[in-house]
Amino acid sequence: MSEMNRRKFLTVASQVVGVAVFSRGIFKGLFSAAQAAEPAKPLAELKMLDPKDTLASAVKYVEDYKKAPTSKGNHCVSCQFYAKKEVKAGKEVGTCTIFQGKLVYGNAFCNSYSKKA
Ligand code: SF4
Repeated sequence: MSEMNRRKFLTVASQVVGVAVFSRGIFKGLFSAAQAAEPAKPLAELKMLDPKDTLASAVKYVEDYKKAPTSKGNHCVSCQFYAKKEVKAGKEVGTCTIFQGKLVYGNAFCNSYSKKA
C-alpha cells in the first residue's frame, strides 16, 4: 500500500469508527431515555429474569441464594434494590432496580446485593 493510500485508508477508517462510536452513544442515550419514560408494567406482565441473561450472568445471579457461596444467607428480600412483591407459583417474586422489566425471586441472590438500611 502506498503512503498516500495508507493515509487515506487510515483517515476513512478513523471516521467510520468515530461515527460508529458516536451513533452507539446516541442510541444508548435514546434507549435509556425511552426506558426511563416507559410506564411501569403491572407485576403480572413481567417475566422472570433468566439467570443466563448477560447482566444476570455478569453479577452471578442465582435463583436460590443457597447455591451462592458468597450470599452468606443474604437474598433479594433483604436487598435495597428489591421491591414490589407478589407470589407466583408459590414463590415470592419482586422487582429489582438492576433488572428493569424483569422479576427476581425473593430467595435469589446476586453479587450486587446491598442490605436494606
Ligand atoms: S441486586 Fe439485590 S434484589 Fe437485585 S437480584 Fe441482586 S440481590 Fe436480588
